[in-house]
Amino acid sequence: MGDNRSRNYYEDLEVSPRACDAVIKAAHRVLVQLHHPDKVTDPVSKAAAEERTKALNSARDELLDPVKRAAYDLQRAQERRQRPGPSQPPPNPNPPPAGQRGRQPGGGFGSLRCERCGRTFKTAGGLEWHRTNFRNCA
Ligand SMILES: [Zn+2]
Repeated sequence: MGDNRSRNYYEDLEVSPRACDAVIKAAHRVLVQLHHPDKVTDPVSKAAAEERTKALNSARDELLDPVKRAAYDLQRAQERRQRPGPSQPPPNPNPPPAGQRGRQPGGGFGSLRCERCGRTFKTAGGLEWHRTNFRNCA
């Protein structure tokens, strides 16, 4: 024991790093019941359940103690700075509507799109022909 660097208490309890005490307590209660060693009979699963329960208990103890939690959060922040993960692009807040029609301002090839199959066309005539010949529409 004592090596906390690889442990993630928030992941152990399946809560957000910003979870409040009430959420942490509730998550702990639910997970401890879910992984209760008395629920399993075979020795391997029982040992795993006991380990899991210990991890849940120590995670809860750590996160419900404001001093320990602050120290733990600081340690996590420092570890993140040392090895930054890949930056994730934010999700597109304005996805284009499914049934785009005609030529959009600034939109070139690709803006002529069949709303049924999503196929795109170079010319409005091509799209119109496609729309009126459903057999080509997948
Ligand atoms: Zn189509």
